[in-house]
Amino acid sequence: MNEAASGGRLTGESLALLKGLAGNKAALLTMDLMSEESKLRYRSFYPCGDMLVGLRYHEPNPDRKGFKMGRTLKIVDNKIVAEARSDVQFTPPLVPHHSEHVYGFWHINDQQEMAINLKLDNDRRLTVLVEGFPAKGRLDRFAWFCLNCLNPLYMTQVETAKVGLAGYYATQEDAFEVFNGDASVRTCSDCGTVHPMAYSIFPWKDSVEEKAARDLW
Ligand SMILES: [Zn+2]
Repeated sequence: MNEAASGGRLTGESLALLKGLAGNKAALLTMDLMSEESKLRYRSFYPCGDMLVGLRYHEPNPDRKGFKMGRTLKIVDNKIVAEARSDVQFTPPLVPHHSEHVYGFWHINDQQEMAINLKLDNDRRLTVLVEGFPAKGRLDRFAWFCLNCLNPLYMTQVETAKVGLAGYYATQEDAFEVFNGDASVRTCSDCGTVHPMAYSIFPWKDSVEEKAARDLW
């Protein structure tokens, strides 16, 4: 029987730990989902301790600085599956996923992700994205498959822990340049289907062609 269990008294170690915790100066961290500051801060991903958090607002009229409501698509069992929109959706590691009208590629993450869907006023909706802060060695992959037959077309990957979010987005930009700049890369060698262009999570950066692709898939 250890010291803590005998007579309900704390061991010296536990006492020191609890005293230390009670004296911590850690900041309290909260998010107000409706504040303009939060909308800006979390429009990409923002670190919260061991997590990355992102906010995606879906507007009935997407011209009002939001995204058009689309489906969450995943590639499983050699099929593109539209996942029913639920309060909380999980993406296991290494499942290719694509959010229609929000980002125009298949994201393949070594780590798990969680999406929390909320209903706001005036038919607006919000998706809160939560994932682990990129661990050393974790790869993020940006990929495209033929939408007709799932033949793989193109992919780039990045170790986000090494290069940060700036490097993560730079890798995407490089991939978009190759994929959007060459119709032969977007054309399936098996069935000949031409894939729509890629686009980022920043709609205000869209070219005319990327905007058309965002409306499409
Ligand atoms: Zn094909």
